[in-house]
Amino acid sequence: MQLADRITRIEVSSTLAVAAEAERYRARGIDVLDFGPGEPDFPTPQHIKQGAIDALGKNLTKYTAVGGVAPLREAIVKWHAQQFGSGYAAGECVASTGGKHAIFNAVSVLVNRGDEVLIPAPYWVSYPDIVKYAGGRPVIVPTHATDGFQLRAAAVEELIGPRTRMLIVNSPNNPTGAVIPPEEFARIFEVCKRRGVWLLSDECYSHFTYEGAKPYSVASIAGSKEHVIVAGSLSKTFAMTGWRMGYALAPKALIDAMAKLQSQSTSNPTSITQYAAIAALTGPMDSVAAMLAEYSRRRTRILAGMRALPGVTCTAPHGAFYVFPNFTARLKDSDTSTLAKQLLDRVHVLTVPGEAFGAPGHLRFSYATSMERIEEGLRRLETFFAAASGASAAP
Ligand code: PLP
Repeated sequence: MQLADRITRIEVSSTLAVAAEAERYRARGIDVLDFGPGEPDFPTPQHIKQGAIDALGKNLTKYTAVGGVAPLREAIVKWHAQQFGSGYAAGECVASTGGKHAIFNAVSVLVNRGDEVLIPAPYWVSYPDIVKYAGGRPVIVPTHATDGFQLRAAAVEELIGPRTRMLIVNSPNNPTGAVIPPEEFARIFEVCKRRGVWLLSDECYSHFTYEGAKPYSVASIAGSKEHVIVAGSLSKTFAMTGWRMGYALAPKALIDAMAKLQSQSTSNPTSITQYAAIAALTGPMDSVAAMLAEYSRRRTRILAGMRALPGVTCTAPHGAFYVFPNFTARLKDSDTSTLAKQLLDRVHVLTVPGEAFGAPGHLRFSYATSMERIEEGLRRLETFFAAASGASAAP
C-alpha cells in the first residue's frame, strides 16, 4: 500500500513492540518475567480515582476547552511552581493526552523540514521518530557510561549548527537513569539561550531521584521562560499511565500554537482524566514518596544483581526506574537485540535492547516490578549466563 512519506519515516515504538511480544508468550501460558514496561506497577492512588468518579457523578463527560479546563491549567502551574519554583501563568500551559503528546505537539509546531534537533543518546525511543515525523533531522549527542551518561554543555555546543532548532533533554533519563546536576543544567540552558536553540525539558521522571538528588526543573532558572519548553507527565509520578495526561509549559504564543494543533487533531484530553489530574496535583503527595521508597529498595537490589553477573558492568542510575547494564563483554559476535530474544526464548525474561535507545551493547531493565519478580529474574539471568559460559556459542 502506498502510504504517505511522513509515516514511512518512522518505526513502531520499540517499547510498545516489546510489550506485544510478551503478550504472545503469555497467551501460550508462559510466565514471562517482564522487565520491559516503563510504567509503575502501583495502582493509581484512591483520591485520584475519586476525582474521576466525582466528575462522572457530575456528568462532566462533555467536550472541554481544547487545552484543558481552567482549574486544571491553574492546578498544573501552581503544582509546578510549588515543586520546582517556576513561575508560569495558566495561559502558558496546555494540557495534553499524555507527555508524549505534549512533546509531539511542541516538535510539530517548532520544527521545519530540514531543521536539526539535538538528542542526547541514550535517548527515549520516541524522540528521533517524533522529530523525523515533523520533517526534522535528529542529531545525536553522545553521552558515555564512563562519565555516568552525563550530558555536558560543551558536548551540546559542539553540535549546534545553523539549522539547530531544539535540544531535547530528559533528566532523570530513560533509559540510563542519569540526572543532570543543576549547575550543568544551567550551563546547558546558557548555551541554548546564547545560540538561540529551544530547550525542551522532558520532566516525566522528575520525582523519582535517588541518593540525595532532588526533583529539579530548568524552568526554575530566572529568565528561562523564553527559551524553555517543559513537557510534563502525570503518568509515572502519580501511577496514571492509562489515563493519558501530560502538559506543556512555554511562552503563550507557543502554547497557543500547540492548542491550535490539538484543536484540529485530538481536541481536549479526556474530561474525567482532567478531574483526576486536578485531584492528583492538589492532593497529598505521600503516594509518590511511598513509590519512591519502594523503587529505591528495588534499585539497590537489581543494581547489585546486575553487577554480580560476570562480565557485566552497570552504571548506577540516579533517577527514573531503570537499570541499563552493559553486556558488550558477553556478546562475542552477537548484539543485544539477539541477546534480548534469547533471554525471552530461553528463560522468559523480557528486556528492551539498547539498540532502541541508540545504545547497542546494553539492555534496559525496568524495576517497576515487584521485588519477588526481580529476585526471580536475577536467578534466571544467572542460569542463562552460567549456561552460556559453559557453551562455546554466544549467549
Ligand atoms: N518521556 C519519557 C522519557 C518517557 O519514558 C515517557 C513514557 O514512557 C514519556 C515521556 C511519555 O509518557 P506519557 O505519554 O505516558 O505521559
